[in-house]
Amino acid sequence: MNENKYDVIVIGAGPAGYPASIRAAQNGLTVACIDEWKNRDGSHSYGGTCLNAGCIPSKVLLESSELYFRSKSEFKEHGVVIDKVGLDLGVMQARKGNIVRQLTRGIEALLKSNGVEAIRGHGHLIDGTTVEVTDAEGKRKMVHGDNIILATGSMPMALPEAPLHNSLVVDSWGALEFEEVPERLGVIGSGVVGLELGSVWQRLGSKVVILEALGDFLPMVDLDVAREVHRSLRGQGLDIRLDARVTGTAIGENDVTVTYIVDGESHNLEVDRLVVCVGRRPFTDGLFGENAGVELDNRGFICVDNSCRTAVPTVWAIGDVVRGPMLAHKGTEEGVMVADLIAGKFGEVSYKIIPSVIYTSPEVSWVGETEAEVKASGIAYKVGTFPFLANSRAKSMDQSKGLVKLIAAQDDNGILGVHIVGPLAGELIAEAVLAMEFSASVEDLQRTMHAHPTLSEALHEAALSADGNAIHMINN
Ligand code: FAD
Ligand code: AMP
Repeated sequence: MNENKYDVIVIGAGPAGYPASIRAAQNGLTVACIDEWKNRDGSHSYGGTCLNAGCIPSKVLLESSELYFRSKSEFKEHGVVIDKVGLDLGVMQARKGNIVRQLTRGIEALLKSNGVEAIRGHGHLIDGTTVEVTDAEGKRKMVHGDNIILATGSMPMALPEAPLHNSLVVDSWGALEFEEVPERLGVIGSGVVGLELGSVWQRLGSKVVILEALGDFLPMVDLDVAREVHRSLRGQGLDIRLDARVTGTAIGENDVTVTYIVDGESHNLEVDRLVVCVGRRPFTDGLFGENAGVELDNRGFICVDNSCRTAVPTVWAIGDVVRGPMLAHKGTEEGVMVADLIAGKFGEVSYKIIPSVIYTSPEVSWVGETEAEVKASGIAYKVGTFPFLANSRAKSMDQSKGLVKLIAAQDDNGILGVHIVGPLAGELIAEAVLAMEFSASVEDLQRTMHAHPTLSEALHEAALSADGNAIHMINN
């Protein structure tokens, strides 16, 4: 075999690219996975945004900061008395770094153990079967693949009104690396990332103000759930200003003045650090040679069909660089699908059944359609809700804020959407995803036994409540 010739070449080793590589290898194909991730210190590690600067470091800090916050404010409710709770941010950050290192090294080991050739460097698509790789020293080589999978991910979107500035104005990655707790923290954007990062620093002691241009809070989330999240986060002290469009920033010696407009009136906000979280853009910089033949849409996403095929028959694209929600698990499933299709097997992604989670406290999760979307579709539907206040496990955890809401079709009892705000919502949503994936009806959920006392009983009760039969609900 030509040493630079593979059945499959994957460009990008994030949560879309590395599972695609592993599954292709499991399917008996020869695979090369090219990745150019660069850490702050210039070193390379596998796992892309998710492991190095996204899902994992943010969840580690959310976990640590929640423990800190709860130990200060809630443990005494349990009769657990701690004289003085202190914060060692250095230890907290070092723990985060260790976890990221373990996991990224784990990816490297997985690629190796599956026989994937991991190549560090920049991949440049010359044509449908050729990639030029440039390594860190600038050395170039050509590699050839019968199929090529593009999994180059995304980058934080820049906001011209708030350009990044050293450690004063940072993106989401920068906000995961603070070495001191900023006294006053500004966050631009109340999307998922802005809320999670705002929560971390607010719990650790920052006075956090979130500026959001839109008038609606979490517009993609079911209205009942979004209202509950808004109420809870404000109750914790997060100052979320809606309808507030940032128009400029002025950098001081140790602070930043943010200018924003509400109702046509200009306001100033002084903060010690500012985080820009206004979304992410698909990343294809330096990816395409002039004969690559791959098309981009007007927002820069690589155009693909439902099976992630590009306009070039041998080139596929997956993950954040293509349409659909920018979520790690969505990219992973696309990677697995494509690797199976290349091997001649069945492969499909259920694009209508993608779970989303926001790891705030309380957590938020959902799958399927919101009530507003179902209503707009014009079909007859019913809604079941159940509050965690009436769930014994949530009570015992002292985390009984929130609810489960289930929306189902009136005619065939099919589950159309499930929306959760409450403890471990991100774990609970898995049951709803499985139910929808298996086309379970509300009655199937109603007749499924749930262990007691568990949080999952709240989903069971919401399903019962869709037909007015919840057991633990007081009738008004
Ligand atoms: P990426 O993870 O971006 O990986 C792409 C890889 O390709 C990178 O290593 C990049 O260096 C490499 N690359 C790019 N171009 C080239 C090239 N030409 N040659 C070689 N290599 C190249 N999602 C969730 O599902 N859950 C979460 O909790 C969550 N939390 C998040 C928190 C934050 C703060 C952020 C920023 C994101 C979060 N996300 C979360 C989103 C998630 O990180 C992305 O959806 C996911 O990483 C996308 O995976 P990907 O493989 O498509 O791209
Ligand atoms: P997301 O795309 O979910 O990560 O969220 C990014 C958020 O940033 C969106 O809700 C945008 O409305 C918000 N946003 C974008 N530009 C501005 C701006 N100039 N001022 C305030 N918020 C903004």
